Amino acid sequence: MPEEKKEGEEKSISVSWATFLEACLPGKIYPVKEIIEIDGPFFNIATPDLRLHCSNASCNGKQVFSYNGLKLPINIGKKADYLLEYICSNCKALHISFAVHVQIGSLFGINKAIKYGEPSHLWKGMRRE
Ligand SMILES: [Zn+2]
Repeated sequence: MPEEKKEGEEKSISVSWATFLEACLPGKIYPVKEIIEIDGPFFNIATPDLRLHCSNASCNGKQVFSYNGLKLPINIGKKADYLLEYICSNCKALHISFAVHVQIGSLFGINKAIKYGEPSHLWKGMRRE
């Protein structure tokens, strides 16, 4: 049963949603866990804090980035595109946006996600040094 073996392999190499956003390359499908955040009767895209590089002079290194947007509902059994904006919680000047495509097949299991491209960087409220 080669199909079953393949599925087992996928599970063993799945990455967390935070790791996917932080480190995975664009244009490739990844098996990802912890995409969904359950909020009472609602299912939303999880928006964990991320550790990303901030090149602002006052940060200049890995910083905690926090999600900067509305809760985004997710539908089980559907495919959807999301734009997730994060902000550097240290300088609050660097905004990093992720364009992602997710395929949600299971509530608690492994789902699939693709980044559409490199995250876009946008400076707000101050000029980059
Ligand atoms: Zn910063």
